Amino acid sequence: MELGRREMIAGAAALAATSGSGLAQPSGRKMGYAIVGLGTYGLGVITPQFANCTMSRLAAVVSGDPEKAKRVAAEHGLPDRSVYSYANFDSIRDNPDVDIVYVCLPNSMHAEYVIRAAKAGKHVMCEKPMAVSVRECEAMIAACKAAGRKLMIGYRCHFEATNLKAIRLVRSGAIGKPHYFRSEHGFVQRDPSVWRLKRALSGGGSLMDIGIYALNAARYITGEEPIAVTAQESTDRSDPRFHEVEDQIAFTLEFPSGVIGSCHSMYSSNQNHILMVGDQGRVEMEPATRYSGNHMWTGRDGRERELIPPPGPGQTQFSAQLDHLPQCIASGREPIVSGEEGLRDMRLIEAIYRSARERQRISLAPARRG
Ligand code: NDP
Repeated sequence: MELGRREMIAGAAALAATSGSGLAQPSGRKMGYAIVGLGTYGLGVITPQFANCTMSRLAAVVSGDPEKAKRVAAEHGLPDRSVYSYANFDSIRDNPDVDIVYVCLPNSMHAEYVIRAAKAGKHVMCEKPMAVSVRECEAMIAACKAAGRKLMIGYRCHFEATNLKAIRLVRSGAIGKPHYFRSEHGFVQRDPSVWRLKRALSGGGSLMDIGIYALNAARYITGEEPIAVTAQESTDRSDPRFHEVEDQIAFTLEFPSGVIGSCHSMYSSNQNHILMVGDQGRVEMEPATRYSGNHMWTGRDGRERELIPPPGPGQTQFSAQLDHLPQCIASGREPIVSGEEGLRDMRLIEAIYRSARERQRISLAPARRG
């Protein structure tokens, strides 16, 4: 558990280390990323963020849509040899411009592309959820280890100023002894045809997609690993959106210190909230894990004030995340959100689903720390 706290503090240090300091790689060369999957996140959110990075640049694109890939490559001045399809992806091994492969594909494709990237000799960033099963996560970690390459999961909130401030407040005793944690995360999923609602591509419903923010936050805000989970699902299976995956799932996490974490995940309401209550005060964030505009309230003894930490110049959670992996590669450190971090969440996700299915409390083995 102590190690967990140290990792969280290291997380805060990571932001400080990357924030606006213009930290350059020893060689001065920015590391090249290949984005795999030019969708809403890979293309719409991540690609523009290289403009804010000091250690990273876009070096290649991998897509099933050749026209889109060519257009994006042209917009970013990439040569034709840096445009890949899924079929010729493995030849990325011969591209010295690419240091890191960033997998932004539907969840069930993560394991295959992480393993192929590692076999091609590249370091890997993989979006959350890391994969769709513990077995896949373990195979991804093993493949990166065997190739001697780093694996990091795209848990951007570990680089987000409001969440880092919350971690520091809780660790510093600002709210007294932590007592209980609460988080609701959800959005209204309207289109029944999206891959997120197809189990073969998503691996599960709202928990895999958005509830994972509540789960991961319960661990990074408390700095503890749960010892038991209890979960209940509520899904209208006659709704065409929810024939294959869950809508709502509520889960309770029991932590060794006695902190209770109550989390709620859903595809039928817009919720984005984190609350940590101690015996002398509380920290509350709403919205808590958005791309921007997160807000925080904190205080002791009922006297609260609003805190909105100012972002550094040109600094975002995304650029800090993108620059963290090159820093780790250059220094030999493990990323603060390594494959092990994704695996821990996946173990809990499997336990949450099992608890809901079997209607029983699931005790968890003490988490092994890498
Ligand atoms: P999209 O559906 O918008 O994009 C996924 C892309 O994957 C597609 O555009 C396509 O790219 C490629 N793809 C390949 N095969 C398929 C397939 N069978 N069905 C659909 N797409 C396919 O999804 P998102 O970008 O929203 O999500 C991608 C990943 O990023 C997910 O794992 C998600 O959880 C994660 N994510 C993380 C967020 C965060 O804040 N950290 C936020 C949003 C998503 P192409 O046309 O180029 O082949």
